[in-house]
Amino acid sequence: MAIINKKDMFWISFSAIASILFVVFIDNTYQWINKKIIASIILGLIYGYFKLKSVNKRAKKFFDQKKNYALVIAHPDDEVMFFSPTILSLCQHVNLFIVCVTKGNYYGLGKIRKAELYESCYYLGIPKNRVLFLKDRKFFDHPTLKWDTVLLSEKLQLLLQTFQINSVLTFGPNGVSGHINHIDLHTAVCSLNSYQILYLKDVNIFRKYTSCLDIVYTYFSQPSSNLLFINENMSKTFWSLRKHKSQFVWFRLLYIIFSRYVLVNDWIVYKEIQS
Ligand SMILES: [Zn+2]
Repeated sequence: MAIINKKDMFWISFSAIASILFVVFIDNTYQWINKKIIASIILGLIYGYFKLKSVNKRAKKFFDQKKNYALVIAHPDDEVMFFSPTILSLCQHVNLFIVCVTKGNYYGLGKIRKAELYESCYYLGIPKNRVLFLKDRKFFDHPTLKWDTVLLSEKLQLLLQTFQINSVLTFGPNGVSGHINHIDLHTAVCSLNSYQILYLKDVNIFRKYTSCLDIVYTYFSQPSSNLLFINENMSKTFWSLRKHKSQFVWFRLLYIIFSRYVLVNDWIVYKEIQS
């Protein structure tokens, strides 16, 4: 249960008074609008807003402010396509690093995409010095090429040690989209030792593209042990995606409209730190 502070109380009172005045106002001027429907929508939005805040607050409590966290991704743009609800909530709360395995060089645009990742992360709230690349040519951006996950795990471990990372977040077993690089990354991260490991829950294709409807389903269907982040700032997600100019084609716009991953992230704690 979230603790409602004075600021929240102010906004609840303000919203309630505004709702009453609004309903009275439309009763006198727009008789054709069903005032009960309007009142229900307003109250629903107020309830949803505070529920959203409480969900993110609850998830944040799990993350220790004294520790360093790394979100490990495969390609520049994964951070905003799949993880922006988490990044936006956590980047001010903990020391969050982004570790990107490749520069996304499949079409020879690695240099451009690397710069785009820095820009996107900065816009999301992560400075350049916390955006790291693995820099190993063996792990090439490719839709069908399998990575050596044992070697990848070793390389990641070295990088994580250098930056004193305590906990790692990454893709789930199906890598959201089924991309082989995402799946191999999940395997490599899950075999790391001495780290707390969390992975993003995969959902079926129907849920994946049901946008905000899936927030409701996710909220009521998730086990209480799962951690849930709901996007607090969709405009930041949109403009961060725009920073990936080399990738911004029309279907990316459709993706951001329909994908639930830009709105909600639910995490599974796969491994706790062994003492
Ligand atoms: Zn990717």
